[in-house]
Amino acid sequence: MLYKALIINIMLKNKYSIIAGPCSVNSEQELYKTAKEIHNYIDVFRCGVWKARTNPNSFTGSGDITINWLYNISKELELPVAIEVGIPSHIEKALKKNIRIFWIGARTTVNPFYINELCNVLKGENVEVWIKNPIYPDIKLWIGAFERFKSFGINNLKAIHRGFYPYYKSKYRNNPQWKLVDKFKEKFPEIEIICDPSHIAGNTKLLESISKKAIKKGMNGLMIETHCKPENALSDAKQQINPEQLKKLITYIH
Ligand code: PEP
Ligand code: MN
Repeated sequence: MLYKALIINIMLKNKYSIIAGPCSVNSEQELYKTAKEIHNYIDVFRCGVWKARTNPNSFTGSGDITINWLYNISKELELPVAIEVGIPSHIEKALKKNIRIFWIGARTTVNPFYINELCNVLKGENVEVWIKNPIYPDIKLWIGAFERFKSFGINNLKAIHRGFYPYYKSKYRNNPQWKLVDKFKEKFPEIEIICDPSHIAGNTKLLESISKKAIKKGMNGLMIETHCKPENALSDAKQQINPEQLKKLITYIH
């Protein structure tokens, strides 16, 4: 209760938004429990539905059924929901259940063919699209994805800095490149940038310092992977925090 009052106060004063939720889930209960415990503290609930995994034998998310779970949660908790989309059918399925915030994953941003296909389905729809930076630090590719969306008349766009593949040994799973973020901001001063400390860190220890840095730099939001029981998560278990840890993080970074 104490946290609730404190955090709501922080949220009212904040100029940035908090996006949180699981990397992916294995069941409706897992998703619901996570959402229920954090919905008062966040602006948007995130969840991976179809996961683009490196290894085909890894868990690829719960797929289509997750859309129904998210629909129910969004309605009951009055919580906007954001999901990753990679192919047109993902968008078609989600729009039917009134999901209106989509993010483009790092593996998709790199591919102009995919971006075109997604733009074709999204054009004319009342949606918000968040574009993650591509895996490798090619700012032209990131900017190109924005220009492509804009050329289709899709202008409600935000950027997500999720770090870049480290070619050398690094304490990060994906190296943050704050200078590149500055360059992005010079090119598109009107576009808000969200930081994704979870995929930058790859663990839970570095989340606080990365979040603080992002807020200090004036970034507009934080996307934090949060799971009701991270140790049971079937993807990105090491980097997810539980609802209590999320609440602590929000108060710490303030
Ligand atoms: C995710 O957000 O769970 C994800 C897979 O992110 P990325 O595309 O940044 O790897
Ligand atoms: Mn993830």
